[in-house]
Amino acid sequence: MCGIIGLIGNKNAAKDIFIGMLNLQHRGQDAAGILSFKDNFHIKKGRGLVERVFNEENLEALQGNLGLGHNRYPTMGSAFSDTQPFFLTYPYGVGMVHNGNIINYFSLKKYLKEKKQRITNTDNDLEIMLHIFSDKLSAAEFSENVIFDGVKEVFDKTIGGYSVIGIIGDKGLFAFKDPRGIRPLVLGERIENGKKSYVFTSEDVVFHSLEYRFIRDMRAGEAVFIDKKLNIHSRIITNLKEKPCMFEWVYLARPESVISGLSVYKARLSLGKELTKKLKGIKADLIIPVPDTSRTAAISLSEELGIPYREGLIKNRYIGRTFIMSSIKERENAVRLKLNVVYSEIAGKDIILVDDSIVRGTTSKNIIKLLKNSGARKVYFVSTCPPLKYPCFYGIDFPSSVELIAFQKNNNEIKNAIGADRLFYQDMKSLRRVLGNDICKACLDGRYPTDIKEAKVFEKERLKVREC
Ligand code: SF4
Repeated sequence: MCGIIGLIGNKNAAKDIFIGMLNLQHRGQDAAGILSFKDNFHIKKGRGLVERVFNEENLEALQGNLGLGHNRYPTMGSAFSDTQPFFLTYPYGVGMVHNGNIINYFSLKKYLKEKKQRITNTDNDLEIMLHIFSDKLSAAEFSENVIFDGVKEVFDKTIGGYSVIGIIGDKGLFAFKDPRGIRPLVLGERIENGKKSYVFTSEDVVFHSLEYRFIRDMRAGEAVFIDKKLNIHSRIITNLKEKPCMFEWVYLARPESVISGLSVYKARLSLGKELTKKLKGIKADLIIPVPDTSRTAAISLSEELGIPYREGLIKNRYIGRTFIMSSIKERENAVRLKLNVVYSEIAGKDIILVDDSIVRGTTSKNIIKLLKNSGARKVYFVSTCPPLKYPCFYGIDFPSSVELIAFQKNNNEIKNAIGADRLFYQDMKSLRRVLGNDICKACLDGRYPTDIKEAKVFEKERLKVREC
């Protein structure tokens, strides 16, 4: 998923980018990087949380009023050398960060080598976009039109879902969203002591702490360039219907964020409310959320059903999200490390346990086991998302159907596999009622908003890369 941010106009971009990245930490905890520009590029990247990578000293060295930041969540590539931002020194100096994936990555890697004599140095699909864009940029004299031609070339060549923010050294900041607008990207503005600055970022939650004002969501297939005099140039390059990722509302985004005009918090309340119909008549003592994402839905479900809401599981907030950890073993350990049970609330109770989704089933199974070992009599598991059955090729880490518990198993088999007494999934109709029809929900119904001809190769190769 990854969190991205790009800033232009304020005196010390890196410091604000750092604050922005703290607010995007939930989108990626694997690594973090900042690239700034003053005369030349300045870069600092490292493994782990934002606070671990940056300090006053290294932020001071990241000079310039133009910069990019990236919180990494790996779906592609594995080595530390794949940590973003990336940059090329020619032409002008082009830096980029992205959130998403390119399905035809492997054929484009070959194309760049054979047709453009450009060698890629990482397993990260951002590098492909950086080369395609820079190649076009180097072919003509600089103007905003050349930037839009570069983005068009990226759209023409790549198939996938992505949001990108970039720097062109000494020229300005640009951003674009794929032709389907799958991954989020917003634009904000701040006026401080009469001076303007602009920010592009994954979620508007960043604006609050930096005191930026929301201007608008970037549109599907749109590119925007902000020059160094802070003039904004924008162009809609393709004109397809937007299909934002439903999983942003269900799981990924912070509840304070608003995505494509719909509050994440409100959407989660509604998802909880929708589930009421399925659970009518169920007798239980408590409703307990798996913290933190599903808390909002659990509150509305409790209100509707008249069953008390309790926080029976307490999260150790200093340990990363289990879904982000890359191996099953790590995930199993993480549940015990991350969640503590409030025994006084659990023992002898019949519990409705609410989670946002079931991906591989490992986490759900371990949480149910934890509750039962702590004295829970019955655990009824509720997922605010319908069954996840198909891989995502647009930046979320469910790359292969066989890894998804709902791909081969029916509800009863899933219930038995995770050890629940009963299992309730959100249905597709209810999800659409909350999020509308114009969303990507390909991981639920297999209907992808882009061509997926090269998906099989991508799926196979990506697994290899992840295993390195
Ligand atoms: S396939 Fe699923 S997770 Fe991936 S972008 Fe579409 S809705 Fe989101």
